[in-house]
Amino acid sequence: MRGIGASPGIEIGKVYQLVNQDIKIEEQNIKKQEVEEEIERLHVALQKVKKELKAIKEHIEEELGPDKARIFEAHIMLLDDPELIPAIEEKIRKQHLRAEKAVDEVMDHYINIFKRIENKYLEGRKSDVRDVGHRLIKELISQEQTEHKLQEEVIIVARDLTPADTARLDTSVVKAFVTEQGSRTSHSAIMARSLGIPAVVGVGDGFMEKCNSGDTIAVDGTEGEVVVEPEEDVLRNFRERKAEFEKHQQDLIRYRDSNAVTEDGKKIEVVGNIGDPDEVDSVLENGGEGIGLFRTEFLYMNRSELPSEEEQFQVYRRVAEKMGSAPVIIRTLDIGGGKNLPYFEMTEEENPFLGYRAIRISLEKTEIFKDQLRAILRAGKYGNIKIMFPMISSLEELCAAKRLMEESRRELREEGLEFAEQIESGIMIEIPSTLMIAGELAREVDFFSIGTNDLIQYMLAVDRNNEKIARMHSPFHPAVLRFISRIVAQAHENDIWVGMCGEAAGNDLLIPFWLGIGLDELSMSAISILETKKLISSWRSDDALQVAEKALSLTTSDEIKEYLSDIRGGKSID
Ligand code: PEP
Ligand code: MG
Repeated sequence: MRGIGASPGIEIGKVYQLVNQDIKIEEQNIKKQEVEEEIERLHVALQKVKKELKAIKEHIEEELGPDKARIFEAHIMLLDDPELIPAIEEKIRKQHLRAEKAVDEVMDHYINIFKRIENKYLEGRKSDVRDVGHRLIKELISQEQTEHKLQEEVIIVARDLTPADTARLDTSVVKAFVTEQGSRTSHSAIMARSLGIPAVVGVGDGFMEKCNSGDTIAVDGTEGEVVVEPEEDVLRNFRERKAEFEKHQQDLIRYRDSNAVTEDGKKIEVVGNIGDPDEVDSVLENGGEGIGLFRTEFLYMNRSELPSEEEQFQVYRRVAEKMGSAPVIIRTLDIGGGKNLPYFEMTEEENPFLGYRAIRISLEKTEIFKDQLRAILRAGKYGNIKIMFPMISSLEELCAAKRLMEESRRELREEGLEFAEQIESGIMIEIPSTLMIAGELAREVDFFSIGTNDLIQYMLAVDRNNEKIARMHSPFHPAVLRFISRIVAQAHENDIWVGMCGEAAGNDLLIPFWLGIGLDELSMSAISILETKKLISSWRSDDALQVAEKALSLTTSDEIKEYLSDIRGGKSID
């Protein structure tokens, strides 16, 4: 099967199908004489779920630390709640409901009460109740729980993985993943690259039916190839490719400690994208010269309440200290558009990517935004932190964000807390309107960082997550490349620097183009850093300029891609 190679590398292993079954609750009531038996069934399920939760909590604590395990602690406590369980029992006794139906009704009742009261703490409790309720209902109707089954090495096969699912994958057992849906720029693919596990996405509907848990599967995340129950010769071929891939990675290590400079000495910064503070290690191991994008929304996921200012401060500080004097660009919260938080109620939207997202949420939920701004400003004391705002579409938004940053500074000063007085700020360039007002925006910030994942989707009206049109989400489109070259020129005319943190930054065919148009920084998944450094060192800047000029004169994506592929293959520039 062919899909989209979303994260490089080759693995062979056993399939584990991750099925998110819909829960169907039996509506029929029980008989009076079955009441005690039903209550007994409820208690057996309660004990089982509690045991499971404890095991998951311990496992996550060991693998990912106490922060990530906290959500499960809250869930265990709920199961001991002195009001919740008697309320369920009463429903079984008085209304003769099946246990699962009683759980569902009681949980709904609580969720509705919490919904009516606007309170940050209760928002968290609401999703706890929902999660625990589902788990209990699933147990009662004997549907399978997935987490604790993953005790041996597996390759996950799923319809799709949410960013939260991906963040929860335990890479000591999950060796790779394959999904029916998704594209190279969907957040699960981006996460796979940062976790350093091979992934193939968008293999198309029906793949789940073509394999079973336990089948052997070979996955090539570089080429986007997947073979279920491969024959011996195919297996041999995959093993050879795996060895080759590993050797290539090994050879690249010599670029780790040198700066990214062209043959004639022009420097361009090559830095890493992270979503989790622990990924700093892999950026450093791969020779990253800084962090060009810290997607902070992942800190807010897989937990039951918002992280406090103090907790965020500790995380940002740790990242800044680990990076020493190297830059760390912290992007403020970018939720919405598929990145949801369990405790943050998002209403269903027709067009989530054009909806309530990123800076639009921050500017409305100023309490949440200011907690984050304060944490970043405080952490700025401990390293070279810069702050970046996502999804800026207008000058008003940028000025409002800057005002809140100023307000946070003032408050910190009044409270006598230490913080960085000088901190560079920048914006993501990912909405087409920014080009038309680039001069005005540039005067308000120290840098731009181009987010091609969203920029392409908004410029070309192509959903970044939809595998059916994944081919159209192309950084080679002449409109995209011309846009980028103009934004770079505008930034430089206004004396600010400009980088790129979308997935296109690490695209090997485009490296000479980025050099030629004069991007100052490229930020990418750790796994692409060494190859990029190697490529940069093989170019002269005048040659790169010629490549950029030629590519900008071409008129179709295919022509441009073919031209850049020819050059990569050693053909002459013109
Ligand atoms: C982008 O849009 O290119 C980007 C880097 O941000 P994200 O992928 O997190 O939306
Ligand atoms: Mg984006």
